[in-house]
Amino acid sequence: MFHSGFVTILGRPNAGKSTLLNALVGEKLAIISPKPQTTRNRIQGILHLPKQGSRPAAQIILVDTPGVHKPDSSLGRKMMTEVREALDACDVVLVIADAARRLDPSDSFVLDLARQARARQLQTRPSMTPVFLLLNKIDLIKPKDRLLPLIDEYRKLHDFQEIIPLSALKKDGLALLLDKLVAALPAGPRYFPEGQFTDQPMRFMAAEIVREQILLDTKEEIPYATTVVVDQFEENPKLTRIAATIHCEREGQKAILVGKGGQMLKKVGTAARLRIEGMLGTKVFLELFVKVSPGWRDSREFVEQLDWRRQLERIFGLD
Ligand code: GDP
Ligand code: MG
Repeated sequence: MFHSGFVTILGRPNAGKSTLLNALVGEKLAIISPKPQTTRNRIQGILHLPKQGSRPAAQIILVDTPGVHKPDSSLGRKMMTEVREALDACDVVLVIADAARRLDPSDSFVLDLARQARARQLQTRPSMTPVFLLLNKIDLIKPKDRLLPLIDEYRKLHDFQEIIPLSALKKDGLALLLDKLVAALPAGPRYFPEGQFTDQPMRFMAAEIVREQILLDTKEEIPYATTVVVDQFEENPKLTRIAATIHCEREGQKAILVGKGGQMLKKVGTAARLRIEGMLGTKVFLELFVKVSPGWRDSREFVEQLDWRRQLERIFGLD
């Protein structure tokens, strides 16, 4: 008996989706930051679980979604399309909510999305896609019975198959989550070979690390006005050469990104290089360029360039 399937993690920005994914897969895959909307692309973490007691062996493919928000630009629309696509192809939906916050209208927006997935899948599946509610950040809730009114409020909004309080950060409640998940997944094949943890190539991860470093080192509008494209990625046994361009929207932003005498770019580059070296296990030579590309966020073509599959297709001349 082997269980397998695709699991979508859905939730408002900052609910803890990326933290949960990382806690489950045990590697730093998704990009985590205290600022919302840092996850722009779907990142799959793959969990290989051996048989344990009455729990059968299983493979869980986790699909991280961009933060759910109202689309306000081409990039925003692409993010929402990805959320919908992720929902259409999954076996269990995990709705993750911040238990330290009160419910507000955007929580219902997330639940509406989960409900739509169920409705669509009813046409092709004999049973409904289960939706679990994960009440995250319970490490911030003391005493624990303060959770009860919130659980009641959520129950009124939706008939969840499971409601599981947990802390993704402290890795509390994850074992129970895994047991319930495996039980809810259908019998199925091993989709990915053992030992594979993500289907995202290193090239894309490097761009995400540079982007996260910009998020950490600069303020306000800068991170949201920038995107990072890796132009060169050359892997040798001891040294990896990476060249990347940071695109921003205005000269003023470029000035901030470069900094006085190039200091900001140097700071971002050094920190990102150290982290990429940790990920690749080789020395890294990282070259960063800053370019003003006005209105990149509204250019459909540009946003599609960011998609790593398309990048690979272009590099290998498949299109
Ligand atoms: P995402 O936008 O949903 O992917 O959220 P992130 O995973 O990036 O997390 C947003 C913020 O919440 C980060 O600062 C995390 O460290 C924090 N966070 C996530 N899970 C927990 C948790 O269980 N407890 C606490 N206290 N903080 C958490
Ligand atoms: Mg995230």
